[in-house]
Amino acid sequence: MYGRTWKLNGNKSKEIRGYLLRKGGIEESPTNPYELWRIKLKGSTFVYYTSGKLYSTQSEEAEEIWKEIDSLVGDNLDLSKDYFIGFDEVGKGEVFGPIITCGVLIKRDYISQIPSELKTPDTKKSHDFEYWGRILSIINKHISDVFFYAIDLIQPREIDRFNINQLLDLSYTKLIKRLMEGLPLGVEARVVIDDYGVGEGLKKFLEKESKESNFEYIFAIDSEDKFLEVKLASLIAKAHRERILKFLQETYGIPRNLIKGNMSNKKLELFLVNYSHIDSWFIRKSFGNKVKKEKPSFYNLISEEGKFRCFFCGKENNEAFLRNYKFVCPFCDKEMKDLDLAMKYHSGVIKVDKESFEPILEVIKNSHLLDGFGFVVDHALKGYFIYYENIGRILTLDKPPSKYITSRVKGDVVVFSLFRNVDNI
Ligand SMILES: [Zn+2]
Repeated sequence: MYGRTWKLNGNKSKEIRGYLLRKGGIEESPTNPYELWRIKLKGSTFVYYTSGKLYSTQSEEAEEIWKEIDSLVGDNLDLSKDYFIGFDEVGKGEVFGPIITCGVLIKRDYISQIPSELKTPDTKKSHDFEYWGRILSIINKHISDVFFYAIDLIQPREIDRFNINQLLDLSYTKLIKRLMEGLPLGVEARVVIDDYGVGEGLKKFLEKESKESNFEYIFAIDSEDKFLEVKLASLIAKAHRERILKFLQETYGIPRNLIKGNMSNKKLELFLVNYSHIDSWFIRKSFGNKVKKEKPSFYNLISEEGKFRCFFCGKENNEAFLRNYKFVCPFCDKEMKDLDLAMKYHSGVIKVDKESFEPILEVIKNSHLLDGFGFVVDHALKGYFIYYENIGRILTLDKPPSKYITSRVKGDVVVFSLFRNVDNI
């Protein structure tokens, strides 16, 4: 059992205060300047804060009251839409581990069935890893074709080199395509993205898409308080990041109180001065404006048609070769630098077969070339990938999206090509 939190505006708070008092709630005096009112009812204390948050402490008897508050609060849903798709990210300002971006799709009919632990989770307190593990298992239990999500990992090595917001644009473009690929043509959908400073590329992409199909898009600040679909995206991203941080902390010996730190934390700064690890891929090194960040122009290494471009010989090809931990051009044999990142953002999912499995696992073990990718592997082989998934280097997927990367062994190289399964669309 955990408490619950809601975000209310002034009028809603009056309405709910009235409801709690009618139900027999006893008013108490606020205990600090941040509390506007405080009511005891059914073993729980309901506190409304100047921030607009209503918090209810844990109590089994209060569940009926919580449900009533849920229905009074509403979720800002425009019920003329068939689908609600929300996006959010976590970890943007933190030192350890990847940023997690998440997109959630909910079909309208399913909204009333979303478990209340997910709709209004207890976000007032900071929770232990166990709580997040429980949230993750509730989420995974409810995944279906009317409620599902996709996540992406943006790794410290990328953040150290490239503009974060532009990486977020690319990550969200990929996730939007992935979530929307199975929707019937012409359905009404709403896409809400928590506004981190959305760039022109993503705006143009959404504009074009919304002209071709019936969807509305919204960029909103603090949208996790206002839109159910963003609240869920935020919650899922958080649950995955917590899962990863737990393993990072254990694997790399980072104190628990520092694992979620950002650079303004003096203790963390001091810790990092004395900390060293032979492979510190999980630590972000660039902070502030001192480091000039590159534009993620690697994206152009793959053409619209899904062909790989070689900057040395100028040729385009359907295939790229992986040899000695490098992608090389099949024509001129030169290294195709950053092609890994281009592949990651154009599809990001590699289908592994029985033959390509071993060389690919070797690459994951000994380099960071394939970090951030999702892998579709046979159930029997999945165990080999779990460790890398746990620490947040890769993801595994049960089935490929319609656009994915195939891999096969040919002599001493692994051949990668982008594949689009048109039957899926
Ligand atoms: Zn070439």
